[in-house]
Amino acid sequence: MPNLKIDNVNKFYGDVHAVKDLSIDVPAGEFVVLVGPSGCGKSTLLRSIAGLEEISDGDIVLGDRSIANLAPRDRNIAMVFQSYALYPYLSVYENIAFGLRARKASDDEIKKQVDWASELLDIGDYLKRFPRELSGGQRQRVAIGRAIVRNADLFLFDEPLSNLDAKLRDGMREEIKRLHTKLGKTFVYVTHDQIEAMTLADRIVLLRDGVIEQIGAPLDLFERPKNIFVAGFLGSPPMNFMDVDVTEHGTSMALPDGQILSLAGTKISGKIKDGAYTWGVRSEHLSKITETKNTVRAVIDVLQPTGSRTYGTFFLGDCHVVSELEAHDVSKEGEILHLAVAIDRTSFFDPETGSAINS
Ligand code: ADP
Ligand code: MG
Repeated sequence: MPNLKIDNVNKFYGDVHAVKDLSIDVPAGEFVVLVGPSGCGKSTLLRSIAGLEEISDGDIVLGDRSIANLAPRDRNIAMVFQSYALYPYLSVYENIAFGLRARKASDDEIKKQVDWASELLDIGDYLKRFPRELSGGQRQRVAIGRAIVRNADLFLFDEPLSNLDAKLRDGMREEIKRLHTKLGKTFVYVTHDQIEAMTLADRIVLLRDGVIEQIGAPLDLFERPKNIFVAGFLGSPPMNFMDVDVTEHGTSMALPDGQILSLAGTKISGKIKDGAYTWGVRSEHLSKITETKNTVRAVIDVLQPTGSRTYGTFFLGDCHVVSELEAHDVSKEGEILHLAVAIDRTSFFDPETGSAINS
């Protein structure tokens, strides 16, 4: 099975520079997820790999051959789209078989492949039905079935779950991950949904405006974001950001409302220069304790119980902060809490450039 190399690829649509000098190496068998806000160039890049868009310059190499100038059908790549694009007048069986018939496979071979795919995707009971007789999730599975019978070298997915309701999406996410393990093929998967990216990927490629902001394992990006954009994009609720002043040779920090936190004894104590920073702290790293030493005093403004956890929001000066509390940590709005901060798990950013200082 070949690896995929995207080599200094640029793509222009007229004046729009959709993909900017982008390079990614995808080892064979990896599950890589391209994620980023709408319009950042995910689909353009995926369609360029498939051959549905012509790249402006650079190269795309699969194994040891450049595929950049090959017709889509000669690339041996399968693609699954957000819209299932099934043939409405063909049965599920014939939808899955379509590509095989086009390539003049024998009836026996087709049956073998369709049976294998439908068992893998648990759609064996629907083979005689037509697409209109299926739910959204079943249709998406048929679309995946049609892609996997091709025995392609590379599988591309463009937001395949976006049309499904939330519950179905969770289930299909698990199935796609299992499918990747069973097939053992290289997957390049596009989504704008950070949870999908985190849960599915071996490696995440986080894009913004046609440029890679960071590549790495999901927890790498989550715990060691290179900049404010990455830190804010991954995680729900999003990371809290605030302006802080570090003083006392990097051992003390003033919050936006003037409260002082000691940095003594933490990983960054004495490691950063005194001055102004943007500080990023995730809601789960603010937790209620009873002592009042080195804590953030928070007057809870709004409570949002979710069952297992409760989100408590508060203000530090003008800065809105979300803390994630145990369900019974707080019972009413207006309550005053003392929150411990897991300072070693927080991030400091250069307020000018947004680059991380300590990760
Ligand atoms: P994403 O999939 O990340 O939402 P796209 O790859 O579809 O983003 O689009 C990237 C950029 O290229 C956007 O600015 C979009 O408007 C532009 N774009 C995409 N397709 C075309 C096209 N066919 N013609 C002109 N501009 C396009
Ligand atoms: Mg897209």
